[in-house]
Amino acid sequence: MVALTRLDCAIGSAAIMRQALVQALHHTMHRRAFGKRLVEQALMRNVLADLALESEASMALVLRIARAVDEAQHDPAAAPLARLITAIGKYLVCKRCAPFVNEAQECLGGAGYVEESMLPRLYRQAPLNSIWEGSGNVQCLDVLRTLDREPASLEAFLAEIDRAAPLHRLLREERRRLGDLLASAPAEREAIARVLVERMAVALQAAVLLRGAPEAVADTYCRARLGGGDLRCFGTLPADAPFGALIDRAWPDAVA
Ligand SMILES: Cc1cc2nc3c(=O)[nH]c(=O)nc-3n(C[C@H](O)[C@H](O)[C@H](O)COP(=O)(O)OP(=O)(O)OC[C@H]3O[C@@H](n4cnc5c(N)ncnc54)[C@H](O)[C@@H]3O)c2cc1C
Repeated sequence: MVALTRLDCAIGSAAIMRQALVQALHHTMHRRAFGKRLVEQALMRNVLADLALESEASMALVLRIARAVDEAQHDPAAAPLARLITAIGKYLVCKRCAPFVNEAQECLGGAGYVEESMLPRLYRQAPLNSIWEGSGNVQCLDVLRTLDREPASLEAFLAEIDRAAPLHRLLREERRRLGDLLASAPAEREAIARVLVERMAVALQAAVLLRGAPEAVADTYCRARLGGGDLRCFGTLPADAPFGALIDRAWPDAVA
């Protein structure tokens, strides 16, 4: 039962992110400051592009989980993957939602904080999905339990990464590091479970994007999220990231 409601939570958080992104894009397409629209300002474009990237990665991941859950209804061989990635996806997508909405609020400045915009409502809603149906720590403990008791889950997860690994050097490198992390002694695993689950989730997002998204999205995701240690604040994509392509994908012709 909770496997399905946990998927609901992750889908709900991805949807909140997309709605917050649309609000941020709409505002920045119309608000002028320092002689130009906000969507034309270099630093704001980095923030918007990064939000667009995260929103797409979250949506792509929850749809991949939904497919695994659907397949598991008819095919017992698909169940181990669904079992593991539901917990992994709920952890990351629901955890990222609140800071994501806060960043979208900031795109509207003070107008994103006061109740006249819908952002405060999204912000109040954002933390809930990471708490109910199993909080963040509970998801991580669930992942550890699955790794211990259902080896087929880990095999299916790694096969999913391996299918995409030939497409990007950074995913191949992350796959090797993930292998070392997964080999850490079970006694040490609990304390670092968030690190492990976050890294598994980010690798899976990269794999899903590499197999289904345009190169501008997938390559930027790999460069921005893999191998750099902890996740950073939004708006910290590399200087040569395809900002315009990422923003236009979230809202066609947003900059035109
Ligand atoms: C708006 C709302 C509606 C809800 N609706 C329902 C409902 O309809 N039906 C229902 O049954 N429940 C419902 N809940 C309850 C919800 O599922 C629980 O609040 C949630 O599962 C967390 O449990 P808890 O509040 O008992 O916190 P606790 O279990 O006390 O957890 C507190 C903190 O400790 C952490 N923690 C717990 N155990 C460990 C551990 N072993 N190691 C490390 N950290 C740990 C948790 O991750 C969490 O951060 C609702 C909650 C909210 C906020």
